[in-house]
Amino acid sequence: MKYCKYCGKEINASAVVCPYCGCQIEEMQPAESGGMGIAAIIFGALGGWLGLLFGIIGLSTYKTEKNRKNCKIGIGLFIGWIILWIIIFANT
Ligand SMILES: [Zn+2]
Repeated sequence: MKYCKYCGKEINASAVVCPYCGCQIEEMQPAESGGMGIAAIIFGALGGWLGLLFGIIGLSTYKTEKNRKNCKIGIGLFIGWIILWIIIFANT
């Protein structure tokens, strides 16, 4: 739940228009294809450079928090692999 910034009443978190005062809560965001974020996660999980690449491109183009988060996860997974590889190589 969140609160309307105009009238202060509690409203549904996904509401775009406040049901009490009718004010628009959030700007309607144009639908954004999340493909880049998904690709970042998939390639990042596989430890591929594309995960980092898609993540960086996605972060620089996406405005939606959900898609940006996916990109960050992809980059995070890739960094995780790098750390893992460093540990493996350091021990051989
Ligand atoms: Zn309101």
